[in-house]
Amino acid sequence: MTSLKENQTAWIVCKFGGTSVSSVTCWQNIKAICQKHLKQGLKPLLVCSAASRITNLLVQLLNDARNGNYADCLTTVKTIYVNLAAELEIDPTVLTKNFQELQQLCEGIALLNEVSPRIHARILAQGELILTLIGEAFLRKQGLNCVRIDARDHLQIQKQGIHKNYLSAQCHTEFDHKLSENLTGIYAEILITQGFIAGNEKHETVLLGRGGSDTSAAYFAAKLQAKACEIWTDVPGIYTANPKLIPEARLLTDLDYDEVQEIASVGGKVLHPNCIEPLRLHKIPLHVKFTERPEHPGSIASYNVTQNKLPIKSIITQYKVYLISIDTIRMWQHVGFLADIFACFQKYEISVNLVSTSESNVSVSLDPTDGGDHEKIEALLVELNKFSKATLIGPCASISLVGRNIRAVLHQVSDLFSVFESQKVHLLSQAANDLNLTFVVDEEQAERLAKKLHVILIEQNHTSHYLSKSWLEEFGEIQPRPTPWWQDKKLALLELAQTNSPVYVYDSEILTLNAKGLLNFK
Ligand code: ADP
Ligand code: ASP
Ligand code: MG
Repeated sequence: MTSLKENQTAWIVCKFGGTSVSSVTCWQNIKAICQKHLKQGLKPLLVCSAASRITNLLVQLLNDARNGNYADCLTTVKTIYVNLAAELEIDPTVLTKNFQELQQLCEGIALLNEVSPRIHARILAQGELILTLIGEAFLRKQGLNCVRIDARDHLQIQKQGIHKNYLSAQCHTEFDHKLSENLTGIYAEILITQGFIAGNEKHETVLLGRGGSDTSAAYFAAKLQAKACEIWTDVPGIYTANPKLIPEARLLTDLDYDEVQEIASVGGKVLHPNCIEPLRLHKIPLHVKFTERPEHPGSIASYNVTQNKLPIKSIITQYKVYLISIDTIRMWQHVGFLADIFACFQKYEISVNLVSTSESNVSVSLDPTDGGDHEKIEALLVELNKFSKATLIGPCASISLVGRNIRAVLHQVSDLFSVFESQKVHLLSQAANDLNLTFVVDEEQAERLAKKLHVILIEQNHTSHYLSKSWLEEFGEIQPRPTPWWQDKKLALLELAQTNSPVYVYDSEILTLNAKGLLNFK
């Protein structure tokens, strides 16, 4: 944890995602969370996303406006926010100016029949800007001295390239003395600001990439050297798989930054991949918490990890993955061939996630969080086809196994490859840091394969007994977890330990049962 100098404000940054800001119950919980922190002498900086569905609707609004037919979509956005304001008993006229700005931006797009990245960013930013107006008004009405600040005035981006600069920008992460002074100087108990948005040197609006509110929170936490960064969301923490897809997934209570980084990077949506590094740099603990049940302990990522050594911690599935397969015979002994290929990706500002190469083929997966701009991808294919044969494959899905020393445990999971037996694996990539192994398969195969892998690698692994409960145990229909065999035979084991210790003990009943299970496993 960061050590504070005398008189330095002890900040705690709390980020609330879309579902966490979309109902009265959630806002009551947000109020209680703030009060708890205040009691502990911590000053909350709330970083809020847009309400559920809003950013997707604003993306649709961009397209509708280009076609000159945006009225319905704009009405839906306004209605969601006016209804939320009504539920929270807030005067909706506080939103009028922002609604007008949205209307004017749409008129401009319709007139020009095109959307620049600059306007794209301004439209999407309204989701968060409007939400924080509502949040501030609610908390003030509840008697808290809450002041809203504009994230664009406080988070400055680094320069990267025109597309990246407006739509998926990044910020510096050093401690920001001036910011700390400015925010401490505001007379308020609580500050509230927008996630997802930042400002550039021309004071224009820029975005931090879809899902980027987590990253906003991490930037603020790093710049303020906060005591902790809390990501409040619609699940109680980081699980061994997406619990909405695999309810048998178990909660991982303690993780280290590397593991969380890997889970986020391979598509575990619960955290944005850019939000871990700023916290790791400043050793700020990252908590993932459940807004519906604030008392739930959740997950913590930090340096001091006590979680058991389950070799594979999480199985992460990511959909809408596109691959570009590049065939050529020129690669053989051709110096600079890969450089030529990647220069094309750079030209069109298309990020690459996974790469696999052989003598005559290079396959890469495109970053699904990049927005999938089909015009740019088409242009890239034309360019690549000038000196190779490039084909687009997809939509596919990636299934990643994340854990420490994956290489060392692969021999224990010989069943793993039989799971893929008759399925086409388009790309297989093992990370050089030995933290993940990723398979790219057809989308329709992904759910079934991920479930099978979860059974083999996690549910059937005896060490998973030490993990917290599964989603199903806590929130689904109750399926009591079988008591581990050694608990029932505790007395006999203690007796044995008196005469022989240390000693390896196997339970013949369990061995037989598991052997039968393996034989029956399809
Ligand atoms: P928010 O709007 O709060 O940012 P997100 O939808 O971005 O929430 O992230 C939370 C979602 O992440 C969960 O609802 C869950 O379905 C998904 N998710 C994917 N992988 C995991 C995982 N390993 N552990 C927990 N949640 C996961
Ligand atoms: N509202 C933005 C999005 O949906 C940012 C976020 O939710 O983190 O992408
Ligand atoms: Mg999110």
